[in-house]
Amino acid sequence: MLPRINKLPKDIIALSPPYLTRDEEKVLSKVIRSGILGLGPYLEKFESEIARFVGTRYAVATSSGTAGLHLALYTLGLGRQDEVITSPFSFVASANVILYVGARPVFVDIDPVTLNIDPLKIEAVIGKRTRAILPVHIFGYPIDYEKIARIAGKYKFGIVEDACESLGATYKGRMVGNFGNLAVFAFYANKQITTGEGGMIVTDDKRSYSLLKSLVNQGRSDSGQWLTHDKLGFNFRLDELSAAVGYVQMKKIRMLLAGRRKVALTYQNYLKNLADIRTLPDRMGNLQRSWQTFVVILDEKIDRNSVISILAQRGIASKPYLPSIHLQPYWRKTFGYKPGMFPISEAVSKSSLALPLFVGMTDAQVARVCEELEAAMGLSAKKR
Ligand SMILES: *Cc1c(COP(=O)(O)O)cnc(C)c1O
Repeated sequence: MLPRINKLPKDIIALSPPYLTRDEEKVLSKVIRSGILGLGPYLEKFESEIARFVGTRYAVATSSGTAGLHLALYTLGLGRQDEVITSPFSFVASANVILYVGARPVFVDIDPVTLNIDPLKIEAVIGKRTRAILPVHIFGYPIDYEKIARIAGKYKFGIVEDACESLGATYKGRMVGNFGNLAVFAFYANKQITTGEGGMIVTDDKRSYSLLKSLVNQGRSDSGQWLTHDKLGFNFRLDELSAAVGYVQMKKIRMLLAGRRKVALTYQNYLKNLADIRTLPDRMGNLQRSWQTFVVILDEKIDRNSVISILAQRGIASKPYLPSIHLQPYWRKTFGYKPGMFPISEAVSKSSLALPLFVGMTDAQVARVCEELEAAMGLSAKKR
């Protein structure tokens, strides 16, 4: 295993730096020397590598995870009048893409343990216009797939998995990405593998695959005529430099996943006896998380934002992961969402905290974060 060559900050334990080696540097230089910067051999290799790893028939690379989710919904033919069920506890992109295709997002509150959409609350919001569900495997933890599939089957609507944080997570031994009509991974620098910016849509459906291949590339027809466009398409292509980095990262995916998990389990070991803090499950039954970020939930008597500032002063990065989407200023202003509408998501948003997690983070660094966290929590207990 080659060492990391990207610099880590000296004055702070960073949240989620990528793991880049001489291999990534070499492949980039190779692409530059080839002069082929788009639609080249690495794009195809990267797509095949993801499809092989996830176990789907097809994969189509996109310029970001967001572009992938947007295109996935568009491919399902969603539009005005349609409703898509999703989770309020996610990165904002997973709900924004529903707006991009003109459909209406319908939020369903989350399960307090998994932080994923609560399957028991889905049926209550299904109506005549429900056309799809976009569940998020949040922080790499797989959704309760069978329960959701049963509902989707009963009411006949599509599933698009937001697997942007969960490359490598498994549900009953099968990789996430295999459950929806379409699923999307993302490769920003803080994800399990990175391409800089990038994403990937996976599917087993041949018709969706042909459509995606055309739509991602300006709606080009499959006649082979470069300037014939028989659909309204997009330029959501992933460039060759990014694809090459992704391909090289996929060569060491097992090591990257194991490296992240090792750090997460070390954290859990340090934190298990600490009061007023809850960690998220690594595994429950046969659902296995892929560790994208290490999030802890603090007791409500601790002022989470004060913990973040104290940790920052002590040289430790942390973030309030994640704010609930419906309470984002844009969403409140545009749709009139208010506090109290999705109480579990809101409570978690107030008390969740992402701590540094990256491949190669040492036990000593984890121990230091945990000690500083304990001290910061002591100083941040709210007065009654
Ligand atoms: C990262 C992420 C996305 C978007 O991916 P980008 O590549 O940043 O566009 C979407 N949904 C979730 C849950 C994510 O974590």
